[in-house]
Amino acid sequence: MRTCEGCRKKDEKEKFLRFVEFEGNVMLDTAGKLPGRGYNVCPDSKCIKQFVKKRFKNRINAEELIKNVISSLREYLLHLLSLCHKTGITVIGQDNVKSFKNREGVLLLSSDLSEKTKERLKEAASLTLKDMFTSEELGNALRKERTAGVVFVEKAGLGRKFYEVAQKLKTLSESLKEK
Ligand SMILES: [Zn+2]
Repeated sequence: MRTCEGCRKKDEKEKFLRFVEFEGNVMLDTAGKLPGRGYNVCPDSKCIKQFVKKRFKNRINAEELIKNVISSLREYLLHLLSLCHKTGITVIGQDNVKSFKNREGVLLLSSDLSEKTKERLKEAASLTLKDMFTSEELGNALRKERTAGVVFVEKAGLGRKFYEVAQKLKTLSESLKEK
């Protein structure tokens, strides 16, 4: 069990964002492999702000850190998506996922899809991440020549890691909307 540096909530290590301190600066340890003093923080903008205030006073801009965390998580997810695709656990295209019902995994719905399509597919998977990537970014990660608006990643093998990171990104971006 680990404790959030912001709200003091206890949970499993996988549920938290891990930050490391490096030469007076703080950065997100996306893959959980950086050396140094680590801090666990909930994927929640309030907790990140509390953490920065407590540990770094005003030396670090929390808003900027949150922006960096979101962009690091997005990049890491695209990287993982490439790897997951190679292991054969992705399903691409709305025609191929439309029959899914709460399937264990992450459904990525690109920001350029129509609202109707997003609405129709919203219960296809156990976790839906929408409007986080463009169909071009997803297409690139899959090394497809064309764009990919709908991508499903099964929660198996490396897909478990993908699920974990996608959940953090979703929770963090939703926490930014609540206020
Ligand atoms: Zn917290």
